[in-house]
Amino acid sequence: MIAVYPGSFDPATYGHIDIIERSAKIADKLIVAVLNNSAKQPLFSAQERLDMLKETCKGIDNIEFAAFSGLLIDFAKNNGASAVIRGLRAVSDFEYEFQMALTNKILDEKIETLFISTSAQYAYLSSSIVKEVARFGGSVSSMIPDAIEKRLLQKIR
Ligand code: ADP
Repeated sequence: MIAVYPGSFDPATYGHIDIIERSAKIADKLIVAVLNNSAKQPLFSAQERLDMLKETCKGIDNIEFAAFSGLLIDFAKNNGASAVIRGLRAVSDFEYEFQMALTNKILDEKIETLFISTSAQYAYLSSSIVKEVARFGGSVSSMIPDAIEKRLLQKIR
């Protein structure tokens, strides 16, 4: 099974990395797809987000990285994927994720959305929280890998 794990990853956190490691064990090939959506005004460029992900996931063999814009379902189809992976944290993730999954099902019924529940220690963790804490000078070393923390601090300084 080829699976796509899409997201903004602005920047990738330990929560994302956990989902990547766990889904790479289930999929034959996992494509981590960075959404290149200018409307979201990301802190990092798509290339920077890709570079950070690649560097962090060096040890995983069956993984590929790509940037995409437009419809996720088109990206999945063009890459031969039959599943989309999404991580679920709190109840608050559910409604949006459910809506996306149902919409994607209408667009292509052959592609399944698979939800992986967060590991308890990352249930509170999001890229926005990391950026907010870092902006106010708090320590984010338990939330993101050192290499990503270094880039984040350079960026917001
Ligand atoms: P998006 O803009 O698509 O929500 P994100 O980069 O914020 O992009 O998240 C990508 C995916 O990773 C989403 O399915 C999100 O729910 C999941 N995710 C984010 N943080 C965590 C976490 N701490 N634990 C589990 N899943 C997470």
